[in-house]
Amino acid sequence: MALRCPIVSVLGHVDHGKTSLLDKIRKTRVAAREAGGITQHIGASEIPIDVIKKVCGNLLQMLKADLTIPGLLVIDTPGHEAFTSLRKRGGALADIAILVVDINEGFKPQTIEAVNILRQYKTPFVVAANKIDLIPGWNSKEGPFVLNFNEQNQHPNALTEFEIRLYENIIKPLNEMGFNADLFTRVEDITKTVCIIPVSAKTGEGIPDLLMMIAGLAQKFLEQNLKLDVEGYAKGTVLEVKEEKGLGKTIDAIIYDGIARRGDYVVVGGPNGIVVSKIKALLKPKPLDEMRDPRDKFKPVNEVVAAAGVKIAAPNLENVIAGSPLRIVPEDKIEEAKEEIMKEIEEATIETDEE
Ligand code: GDP
Repeated sequence: MALRCPIVSVLGHVDHGKTSLLDKIRKTRVAAREAGGITQHIGASEIPIDVIKKVCGNLLQMLKADLTIPGLLVIDTPGHEAFTSLRKRGGALADIAILVVDINEGFKPQTIEAVNILRQYKTPFVVAANKIDLIPGWNSKEGPFVLNFNEQNQHPNALTEFEIRLYENIIKPLNEMGFNADLFTRVEDITKTVCIIPVSAKTGEGIPDLLMMIAGLAQKFLEQNLKLDVEGYAKGTVLEVKEEKGLGKTIDAIIYDGIARRGDYVVVGGPNGIVVSKIKALLKPKPLDEMRDPRDKFKPVNEVVAAAGVKIAAPNLENVIAGSPLRIVPEDKIEEAKEEIMKEIEEATIETDEE
């Protein structure tokens, strides 16, 4: 059975660098192109394992693990308003998360909120300690943090400043919230201690280390309990409902399990009950070089296999809202899908009441 990519979500306080970091990851282009490239999905980017291996190079030896995951599917909308409702049964939509913290500013209200969500859903996460280029005396440059770190000895103050910020602004607040945490190079068991990876979304320092640790974390949890087999019809979550010229209201969704086919039905929860609609088209972004007209952004596909982001064009989607559970099923599975969705909505309501 084929394994799907783990879904990765980026969280953190506003202005700590979530968007910049995602941009930087997507621009690991040079290596990416040679190895087959980063694939653009609707609302997400897929980083194939070959790209990760290429970007990380010798660093990977640090992991002491074979990577069997096919890659990572990183959700493009950081700090999505609907993140708290991006649920699937028994947990959050994301399999793993990157918590972005400005190493100079430390924990802020939204950082704490994010950690609480991750804890509630037992979502494994790493911390990207961003903006290390702003540490006084730090000589930041593109490439692995571990290499650059060893070169910082000409700036002894920079190292001291780094260690103080690392401890006071990240390790200590995480400890206070009940998590063990340390600089990733000092962590023995990544399933027990939260790894902190210093990065700069500005210079690109630490991006290889970050990719390696996310892949490593996903791999470790895959071996323990993360289920990545693709089975049955498509199950997903609505990211956004969008009006598109010529298509009307469409749903952008992340599919976390199963296969969706053209001609299937979309079954989706809404504030006024469940909507069932026959799919007109499953759409993916058109590669830039095929885009002759900027209005002609999407191309229809026959099939979408998890994990993936997809745009769904179908009638009667006006009342669908972001964060809703979704299924894409053949006609004879509509009732089953409805029941699943109702159960999911009930569970989500109970959880919210408990908070
Ligand atoms: P978001 O709100 O978390 O998505 O944060 P943004 O990515 O929009 O970044 C907020 C600001 O911080 C922007 O002005 C970025 O240019 C800046 N920024 C982000 N990452 C870094 C970094 O690593 N170093 C520096 N010096 N600035 C950064």
